[in-house]
Amino acid sequence: MKETVKPRGKPLSGEEMKQVCHVVARPQVKYAWAVGVAMSHFLAGLKQGKILGRTCVQCERILVPPRMFCERCYRTTDEWVELPGTGVIETFSISYIDTDANRIKEPIFVGVLAFDGAPPHSGIMHYFGEVSQDAIHIGMPVEPVWKPGGERVGAITDIKYFRPREGARPSSNSKRRKRG
Ligand SMILES: [Zn+2]
Repeated sequence: MKETVKPRGKPLSGEEMKQVCHVVARPQVKYAWAVGVAMSHFLAGLKQGKILGRTCVQCERILVPPRMFCERCYRTTDEWVELPGTGVIETFSISYIDTDANRIKEPIFVGVLAFDGAPPHSGIMHYFGEVSQDAIHIGMPVEPVWKPGGERVGAITDIKYFRPREGARPSSNSKRRKRG
């Protein structure tokens, strides 16, 4: 029989949360940072709604996020390729704390996905959406939900989130399960 692993620990109260997470300053600091040839091209691709990778013909991998140098073969990578943008969830967390450490009622889902066409365990971290905590699982096929073209700026947040791919998500007229 499979043993169930129960989560340990206890949730923090609102007061306890304030003691461990508090903002001491919000400096208005501006800076410029050159991301390099490969990442610049990747970000420009995001603005166009494309996921771009670099091929290495020697180890037959597609590197995404792309790199101009294959660390496995110790040689320059070969060509730019566009990936479909779909992938699978490799790991995820269900969070009741937002990015500013505020408690939230509806959880957000964050995790790592591997892009289809790229090797496993080399993907990116992002949000998952249009999915319930009952349904989300490792190995779930997902697809990107892009911001409209005019709102994209060449950042990973040009993808709003990844949602279950058609067939992996409930149809719009099916009832959502409610947790009691
Ligand atoms: Zn290689």
